[in-house]
Amino acid sequence: MLSENKIESLVDLLKDIERDYGPAALASSFSIEDMVLTDAIVRHTPGINIFTLDTGRLPAETYVLMQKTHQKYDGVVGVYSPDCGVLAEFVQAYGPNAFYDSVEQRKECCRIRKLEPLNRALNGHAAWITGLRREQSVTRTDTQHKEWDEAHGMHKFNPLLDWTEQEVWAYIRRYDVPFNKLHEKGYPSIGCAPCTRSVAEGEDIRAGRWWWENPETKECGLHVKTAG
Ligand code: SF4
Repeated sequence: MLSENKIESLVDLLKDIERDYGPAALASSFSIEDMVLTDAIVRHTPGINIFTLDTGRLPAETYVLMQKTHQKYDGVVGVYSPDCGVLAEFVQAYGPNAFYDSVEQRKECCRIRKLEPLNRALNGHAAWITGLRREQSVTRTDTQHKEWDEAHGMHKFNPLLDWTEQEVWAYIRRYDVPFNKLHEKGYPSIGCAPCTRSVAEGEDIRAGRWWWENPETKECGLHVKTAG
């Protein structure tokens, strides 16, 4: 069940961001949360930019969704890719699946494929927006709606922080928003193909991300701790 108040609060916050913190941008990974935000931004706050980080290792289903999103929302999502020279050197040195060998190599892969492109995408913006929800992870319990992101020197907004998964799905259904078909195959949280697996019923919703690591290390570095 999704209340009108919750949608109004979301739209109000997006309008505040567009007016007072622009230029702002949504970093979309095509998660259900990011699809809700994309739809709301296109409808209500077109002055907010939207971008995605194409790591080159995304599941085929995510590229299908990327194409649908491109068609439905008129190519509104800007695409940022890794530096091909740096990536080639890393793969040459450590192999294409080095992320399984150590946390350090996994983080280096995330740095090359996500963090550096993120920095490029955020360049010139005064604020960025994410689809983080508090119930998603043990690493996200103290996240705030509005934070100061020291690493990027800008505000970071998490408008769906208090939304439940059911509310996100209710929005998707109400506005016929496209979503990743992997969600129907037991994937509540989707990242790169080799680093994401399905989860069993009752398992933590992020248990399928970097499942071979401890919960405390299971972030790609995009959402480092920031000040409230
Ligand atoms: S999620 Fe896996 S494949 Fe994707 S950037 Fe991180 S380590 Fe590399």
